[in-house]
Amino acid sequence: MAIGKSTRPLQRIIQSVVASDGAGVKLRRSIGQSPFARLDPFLMLDEFSSFDANDYIAGFPAHPHRGFETVTYLLDGHMLHEDHLGNRGDLKSGAVQWMSAGRGIIHSEMPQQEHGRMRGFQLWINLPAKEKMKPAGYRDIDAAEIPLVPLPGGGRVRVIAGTLGSEAGSVPGPIQGLATEPLYLDVELPAGAAFTQAIDGGHNAFLYVFEGAAYVGPRDAAHDLDTHSAGVLGPGDRVDVSAGAGGTRFLLLAGRPLGEPVVQHGPFVMNTREEIEQAIRDYQSGAFTRVAS
Ligand code: FE
Repeated sequence: MAIGKSTRPLQRIIQSVVASDGAGVKLRRSIGQSPFARLDPFLMLDEFSSFDANDYIAGFPAHPHRGFETVTYLLDGHMLHEDHLGNRGDLKSGAVQWMSAGRGIIHSEMPQQEHGRMRGFQLWINLPAKEKMKPAGYRDIDAAEIPLVPLPGGGRVRVIAGTLGSEAGSVPGPIQGLATEPLYLDVELPAGAAFTQAIDGGHNAFLYVFEGAAYVGPRDAAHDLDTHSAGVLGPGDRVDVSAGAGGTRFLLLAGRPLGEPVVQHGPFVMNTREEIEQAIRDYQSGAFTRVAS
């Protein structure tokens, strides 16, 4: 993958806000904290991180989704998901669950530990109109399936989706070929180290810093991005990031914007009000469990 010459600037910072979801899981929401804080095709990014079981133990009991994908990346901990189709997955540290809710899924996501650290992310990626009513599907990806690529100047990258295209070469991740062409990287940089990644000029992109602070943008005009903040990138075909004095770790996400209307009602994300009303009726009447097979 060729690395372009036009470096994306840091255009907007979305500081995470503390929120609670599921049966009382404490988390930090950046993308998606309001309808004005989405970045097509990304609907939401939540970070959860706690050593205190009271912040996570209640988990996410049975709940529905329709019309988009949920991507759960567990850094520390142990989580079990089960759905109404009989799928059951055991998510352990370093693993990813890529779920396409399509026309409907009812599932639970429950912590399987009573102490120790639970840390990870849930990302919501929109589906194009023509895929919103396709059958639901899962992909569980073990930590061992996720390439861990050392960077020549120090640091390392985990390639979850799309292709790493940097000084370290071109390395594809396990998730490829989706309509939104997502790039999902987890990048660790020691103090002073730098990282460059090629990003399709037509895609939207953001970083989410979860350890330390990063400098983002052209070398002579880089901007500070602090811990627990999302940084939306402006136009360009590459991103340059360097680490602050304490090193940094961040997610880098990019995807092809769908350019379609988004109507969201909680865990249903469709294109029109009518489709949302249909989703609510289908859920209430039990049609989610009847039609999805
Ligand atoms: Fe869910």
